[in-house]
Amino acid sequence: MYDYPEQENRILQFWKDNKIFEKTLAKTEKKRDFVFYDGPPFATGLPHYGHILSSVAKDVFPRYKTMNDFYVARRWGWDCHGLPIENIVEKELGISGKKDIENKIGVAKFNETCRSKVLTYTKEWKKMVDRIGRFIDFDNSYKTMDPTYMESVWWALKTLWDKGLIYEGKKVLMYCPHCETPISKAEVAMDNSYELEKDLSVTVKFKITDEKFLQKNSDGKNIYFLAWTTTPWSLMSTMGLAIDVSADYVKLSFNDEYYILAKARVENVMDGLGDYAIADEFNGKKIENVSYKHVYDFHKNNIEVLKRKNVFQTFGVDYIELTEGTGIVTINPAYGEIDYESGKKFDLPVIVDVNSTGYFEDSIAKFSSKKAQESSEAIADDLKQRHLLLRSDIYEHNYPHCWRCDSKLFYRALSAWFIDIQKDKKKFIKLNEKINWYPEHLKHGRFLNILEDAPDWNISRNRYWATPLPFWKCPCGNNVCIGSVKELREKATNFDEVYKSDKVAAPQSGASLAQNEWEELDLHKDKADKIKLKCDKCGKEMQRVPEVIDCWVESASMPFAELHYPFENREQFKKRLPAQYIAEYIAQTRTWFYYMHVLSVLLFDNISFENVVCTGNILNDKGEKLSKSKRNFTDPWIILEQYGADALRFYLMSNPVMQAEDLFFNDHDVRDVYNKVINTLCNSAEFYRIYAENDKVQPLPKRIDNILDRWILSKLNNFIVEITSSMNAYNTVISCRLIKDFAEELSLWYVRRSRSRFKEDSRDRKDAEAVLGNVLLNFSKAIAPILPFTAEFVFEKIGKKDEISIHLENWPEADKKMIDRNLEEKMEEVRAIVNLALAERITKGIKVKQPLASLKIRNQKSQIRNNNNLLDLIKDEVNVKEIVFDGNIENEVELDANLTEELEAEGIIREIIRAVQAERKAQNLVPKDRISVQMFVPAKEKLIVEKNKEFLLKEFRAAEVFVEKSAEESQDKKYSIKITPL
Ligand SMILES: [Zn+2]
Ligand SMILES: [Zn+2]
Repeated sequence: MYDYPEQENRILQFWKDNKIFEKTLAKTEKKRDFVFYDGPPFATGLPHYGHILSSVAKDVFPRYKTMNDFYVARRWGWDCHGLPIENIVEKELGISGKKDIENKIGVAKFNETCRSKVLTYTKEWKKMVDRIGRFIDFDNSYKTMDPTYMESVWWALKTLWDKGLIYEGKKVLMYCPHCETPISKAEVAMDNSYELEKDLSVTVKFKITDEKFLQKNSDGKNIYFLAWTTTPWSLMSTMGLAIDVSADYVKLSFNDEYYILAKARVENVMDGLGDYAIADEFNGKKIENVSYKHVYDFHKNNIEVLKRKNVFQTFGVDYIELTEGTGIVTINPAYGEIDYESGKKFDLPVIVDVNSTGYFEDSIAKFSSKKAQESSEAIADDLKQRHLLLRSDIYEHNYPHCWRCDSKLFYRALSAWFIDIQKDKKKFIKLNEKINWYPEHLKHGRFLNILEDAPDWNISRNRYWATPLPFWKCPCGNNVCIGSVKELREKATNFDEVYKSDKVAAPQSGASLAQNEWEELDLHKDKADKIKLKCDKCGKEMQRVPEVIDCWVESASMPFAELHYPFENREQFKKRLPAQYIAEYIAQTRTWFYYMHVLSVLLFDNISFENVVCTGNILNDKGEKLSKSKRNFTDPWIILEQYGADALRFYLMSNPVMQAEDLFFNDHDVRDVYNKVINTLCNSAEFYRIYAENDKVQPLPKRIDNILDRWILSKLNNFIVEITSSMNAYNTVISCRLIKDFAEELSLWYVRRSRSRFKEDSRDRKDAEAVLGNVLLNFSKAIAPILPFTAEFVFEKIGKKDEISIHLENWPEADKKMIDRNLEEKMEEVRAIVNLALAERITKGIKVKQPLASLKIRNQKSQIRNNNNLLDLIKDEVNVKEIVFDGNIENEVELDANLTEELEAEGIIREIIRAVQAERKAQNLVPKDRISVQMFVPAKEKLIVEKNKEFLLKEFRAAEVFVEKSAEESQDKKYSIKITPL
């Protein structure tokens, strides 16, 4: 038994020393392209199981295609921008929030720090990517912070700008008050950053002031609308109340006042408050457009409020849920998506009174020292004191949190830049038909839903470390978009001045930049903000808009931006769109997959990928999210050291996690793979090496006589047909099952039943060697993409030349003439009978070594009945003298358990021979070493041994044998054997 992980490390070194990956590329360079895109990971964290999973998925199919004579370029990429690194740097610099960045540190220093830290973990990544056996060009990686990459992103936006697809608008977006930036829903959904939270919901009284309504409905008492909200802080800017015109409402009398609320909600709302009476009942239509007095008047003098007549009244809508609240809800256009839409419809002002860090503006004097989201209780108290609160309740709901800093998010109206998604939606949906999704259900399920519901794409972020938005604004209203550095240089009034302090002298205007100059030119915000343009409409100075670009625009630009298209590599890019294969985990359907699809359709009227494999999430064995801080899973390095990369690769590839389902990671299952697949295979290869007489695999004999040989060759060729088809269908789950089944059949039946053949000197031995050699050779080729190390190991054992690798071999072709289904069926029957018979031996407590007289088989129509070769296999394996077909027995098979004296003696002799052989082996004696054997055995055995002494002398290859009766007390050890070399 060897240290297999150690073997893997040796093989890794062999690949590196001999540049095997480079050789596979050189070998296929002139062949057809198989285009693969590597989705860029963030370099800001350490690689975990999720990365290993997608890395293996991204390795398997390029290897497979390479063996099928495709050229598969594989280049690593890094996502360098965005919040993850900004948050790390904030912590490192000991600062927090935008004020600190802008005033304390300065954007230039902040960005410089981001740049210096963003590739911190690349070494760890390289180590991991190497160790799991991934073939990829790691050192020549592209980075989203490369100026060439950033320029291509600018080009993309300019192209969309020219098509009229980019606009500035107001939108209500999820917003993080710590990061001070909108967070996309996709990002929140991606990491499932919702947490169960308890908040305060309030039921508030809005006094009706509408004269006409009061004349008809009041007898002098006050009438109130009861409205319900779970965000009390948004009451400051509530601009109206929404009612359901198709629902029934009631006027209810309580404590000398009247309340209006939905009929369906009365019992819940009044629960525990005391006696009340229903005074009237009516349809929602009757309370539409009724004015009331708002509970807070902070905004009553706001120009936007004064401008409009319809604020502070009720409006009919169709979105009210009658399962909670009062059936009347507040409309806060600044703080809710539906509210914003309603506000637009009813012409209500959007008044944002919470500042960018989540505090109330000074205009909300009463609460301005508080964070809005933490003011619920203060507001409830205030309303209560003023008798405007009917009740407040604890409300439990799933609340979104920032995926980076964990702050509570809220919806907030912001101005932002958008890509119009609605205009071309039909095209996105139509082109999705050209994509093959694995698993297939995602195509018309999740992904189609995402396309159908997609909002316009907010591409602006109020942050620092990312590609800056290339938009410049003039006070006259003129906006321009810059699409290249060349254009920027031409239009800027101060390009040379801004860039003269750079290491590179500003290029002469009009001259193209040399490659090395590109690498130095910094387009980030701190520089770009300084660039001024001259307005071609009015001549005034134009300023860049302050926002940077959503990082998903960058990831989505990877197909062309990694090539600096269209500024370079135009021909190459044309050949590389779309990709034939990409893979990532399921959450990327909302992000990378979606954004790349959209951008490619908008820019190139084409899909960007043809085949996409979606993996699932990896949880721990209890189904919990893997968490470093909770240490609720085993470090991948420990697993790799214990069982090796191939065991882990196979475990992941064999699991439905490759079909977007969740995996509960279990270390024991990796160990099982190690024992049952990797070890089994290595042992078969090792067996071959020990007994093969030739260094090279011998050609198959022209005529194959042995039934085991014919069977395993049929199995092998069937296996090749099937695994080829499953690999073509991007199905590693089936591929792994096929591999495991074949490895077991090879080891537990073919090799096991062929052992004795290898020890004789005959034609049959030669045949067995040739067959096993060929089987191992072809099998190792077929497992190479999934088990690259094991394949190489087997390849070595069957006699490869020095610097040749299995990975330079072609995918095996099946010889269909060798397939004999009928024989396979018969062999299955043989194995089934053997299993039953051996099970019966166990139940009866008879060792396999003890020969028995007969095995009865009930099946009269058995296919193997007249096949002596197959019946001999059974006899050998089950250790019986004869096989009888008998339709009258009770079970499928039946062993004759009667031990005649003869059978018993034979069993004893066999056992003694085995014991002597074991002792010989223990003393490292070779067959030609002459020995003397001394044994102590019980009385009965002593007689048998003495009777068969001549035979035993030969079997032992001993010069002399002494038999003595063992002492009674040593009965527990039946045979005590001493061997002395002569
Ligand atoms: Zn945040
Ligand atoms: Zn202008």
